[in-house]
Amino acid sequence: MSELFNKWQGRGLCRLLLSIAVLGVFCPHILSGAVAKAGVGTGFLYDAIYLKHDTGAGHPERPERLTAIVDRLEQKGVVQHLVRLKPAPASLEWITTVHTPEYAERVRKSCQAGARYVDTPDAPTSRDSYEVALYAVGGVQAAIDAVMDGKVRNAFCAVRPPGHHALKDKSMGFCLFNNVAIAARYIQKKHKLGKVLIVDWDVHHGNGTQAMFYDDPTIFYFSTHQSPFYPGTGSADETGAGKGLGFTRNVPLAAGGGDAEYKKAFLEQLKPAAAAFQPDFVLVSAGFDSAKGDLLGRMNVTPEGFAELTRIVKGVAEQYCQGRLVTLLEGGYNLESLAASGAFDTLEGNRARVTCSCGMEDSPC
Ligand SMILES: [Zn+2]
Repeated sequence: MSELFNKWQGRGLCRLLLSIAVLGVFCPHILSGAVAKAGVGTGFLYDAIYLKHDTGAGHPERPERLTAIVDRLEQKGVVQHLVRLKPAPASLEWITTVHTPEYAERVRKSCQAGARYVDTPDAPTSRDSYEVALYAVGGVQAAIDAVMDGKVRNAFCAVRPPGHHALKDKSMGFCLFNNVAIAARYIQKKHKLGKVLIVDWDVHHGNGTQAMFYDDPTIFYFSTHQSPFYPGTGSADETGAGKGLGFTRNVPLAAGGGDAEYKKAFLEQLKPAAAAFQPDFVLVSAGFDSAKGDLLGRMNVTPEGFAELTRIVKGVAEQYCQGRLVTLLEGGYNLESLAASGAFDTLEGNRARVTCSCGMEDSPC
């Protein structure tokens, strides 16, 4: 990731765009596909605690990503249509479902000692980062609980630090604890559901998530990602091992691909795989660094494209597991592309139908 970071640092002009584009990280259309049935809302999980993870001046994975998301939601009047969810810190019991206790302790000690990173400069930290990371995991857990309790039908979690690169005993790629992987185990152990589908459309391959479940037939990992690209894993022939053989599906895409390539992958590969797997819950590692104009990625997914992907994933959740779907933020560093889409769909599906300038229905932009 340092290579990516350096590349990003070299684009000074892009920094201004970044502050704008933060809005794009949270593509407003993304939840359009996750609209709940009438009377059952969509949850939005966020807390100011997530701003306390300080990655250092000029780092692309910065607190403003989230404040811009919240500001935009408020500006667009969308917040009142969402069910606001609050996080609690995850307990070590859950962190260690996928990470070693030694690693969790190393993260704690390192952060609390004021170290600037854990394991690698690719995982920058501050004194509060350990606590914030616990809240990121706990936030996704709160969203899962809200879905399972019937408080919401589905939810989006605006959390940081991201997680899908984190390995069981090592941080990397801006990630400390693997939020989505812990969420999958939480669904299984706390809520007694058997099979979890993880869909990862971040521009980078989620090597940490894949590694944790590579031999596990109860968790299906599906990833579209730019290739070749960081972290170098995720070739199509990585399909799982042992009992998990066939439960990992990678769709590497050449740089420059956009809506058509992603939609094709989701329709022709995700949908049949989901039909065979029959998930009990669907999680999405939603990285918007696959968006057009991202500072790190070189893909070209548009807001309409993300909306389409969400509709497909939501369709899977509706078909196989009563709509149980939780989406959580991973990467995404150019918010301009999202801001341009500008449309914050009504996450509840009960607002007046309009067609905005971006062509999307149900958009108040
Ligand atoms: Zn990424």
